[in-house]
Amino acid sequence: MNGTNDSASNIILQSTDNDYLRTSKAMLSSASELFKTMFSLPQPPDEDSEFIRDGLAVIPIDADTSLLQNLLLFCNPAPEMVRLPELQRAAMKYHMYEVAKRILKERTRGISNTIPPVMLASIEKNFGQNSDARLAAVFTMLFPDDNSDDVVDMGLITKAQVDLLLAYKRNCVAAAVKVASPDHCHYKWMSEVWTRSNWFKDDGGEHEYYCNRGGNIYIGNTHGKWMMRYWWSEYMCAARNELQKQPCGSAVLSEELFQRALKEGSRCSKCSPDLGSQLREFVALFAGEIDKAVSSVSEYKFT
Ligand SMILES: [Zn+2]
Repeated sequence: MNGTNDSASNIILQSTDNDYLRTSKAMLSSASELFKTMFSLPQPPDEDSEFIRDGLAVIPIDADTSLLQNLLLFCNPAPEMVRLPELQRAAMKYHMYEVAKRILKERTRGISNTIPPVMLASIEKNFGQNSDARLAAVFTMLFPDDNSDDVVDMGLITKAQVDLLLAYKRNCVAAAVKVASPDHCHYKWMSEVWTRSNWFKDDGGEHEYYCNRGGNIYIGNTHGKWMMRYWWSEYMCAARNELQKQPCGSAVLSEELFQRALKEGSRCSKCSPDLGSQLREFVALFAGEIDKAVSSVSEYKFT
């Protein structure tokens, strides 16, 4: 008999070549509505039936033992519950490079869209769209601190390529961050139109007392300094933190950041009129400038 014997095993699956695999109803239920329904129905207490073995119900499955084992393996908990980084380390330790490659795929699956499109395009231009090298490059971008030597040890890309990729990412981050907090606090990308927004206008202490203390900035070609409202400077600061992780416009378009700024800004009677639409417009401009800045980072040649 195959399968595990731990107490969680409470059902037996019978393969077409008459092997019996013990497994758990909970796991099957979480993987399939069919099994979930089946197990929710009252089971007939037929002790002598051919469908009872060692006191457990037996379900014939239309798959041979090997296929059934594979199927059960894939029924295991969702990938995020598997300890993928540790699994990767173990696979690397014992030189199981094909296994490690599958782990890389699993770890990057569904999140490669968090790499800015311009960076992804640059990777694919160099490494192709489906190669192992692309996988290694994407992994390096997404997990720069996490065993980036693994992809080298696996022979997917070279150490020099990893270093170039990391340098490219650093430059993209620097370009994006500079839009959020430019040199000398000079926001050249903002036109003087923005000085007419309520949150920059202040004809004589009209803002609530708590709506100052954001420090001063320069805007476009206008003369003199402009006072940042604290909520605006907090938004820009939070945006900068996001850009450090993910240097692209979409990072600052997060609804969470936006709503927080809107909520804080709306507390001030001077800032609040029409704040939602003005802020949306501002954020769209901001995001566009970030993408422009990241696109202008000179492209690396990785191969
Ligand atoms: Zn205000």
